[in-house]
Amino acid sequence: MDGLTELDIETSKKRSLPALLREVRACELCAANLPLEPRPVLQCHSAARILIAGQAPGRKVHESGVPFQDASGDRLRAWLGITSEVFYDERKIAILPMGFCFPGTGSSGDLPPRAECAPAWRSELLGLLTKLQLTLVIGQYAQQHHLADAGSSVTEIVQAWRKHWPNIVPLPHPSPRNNRWLLQNPWFEVELLPALKARVAQALGEL
Ligand code: SF4
Repeated sequence: MDGLTELDIETSKKRSLPALLREVRACELCAANLPLEPRPVLQCHSAARILIAGQAPGRKVHESGVPFQDASGDRLRAWLGITSEVFYDERKIAILPMGFCFPGTGSSGDLPPRAECAPAWRSELLGLLTKLQLTLVIGQYAQQHHLADAGSSVTEIVQAWRKHWPNIVPLPHPSPRNNRWLLQNPWFEVELLPALKARVAQALGEL
């Protein structure tokens, strides 16, 4: 898909999900602004029942090409109460970060997801996920995009998790960088996580 412009993407209508995913995986839209070659990392199937809306792949995930195959993923699976087998079953879980490619690293961690990515791909992909029961909105970039809580901090948004229940659950990023946040916000593990595990099992049809 060399040379594809946002206008080309906009005017190309009604693609099937497999066709759209082929185009996403060949995307070079913001290649000039990426530190490494484009490597979109996502997981998507029209049968998926849970959407994980995250941030962007880190370097380790860029190298493996497998979403959340890192310490953040281990913690996220523990939060959800699901195994790796369930997590990587694309017919159950869709994983769409706000930026599909590794954006690079700054002085205080990974850079924000590339701003070109969501406008180019997100709404069309989401429109093809018709079986979703639950959306997990992880971190500030996904929360700014998916929730009408603009201006609120991640802590304020996650603390108000009941506002979006039961179809949307805002979460902090499960990165080890947030260990301090978890210590400072014990209500997250005491109140939200037990409810989240039950909701995930329900959305997967296990309850
Ligand atoms: S981050 Fe998104 S827009 Fe940029 S090259 Fe990767 S898939 Fe394309």
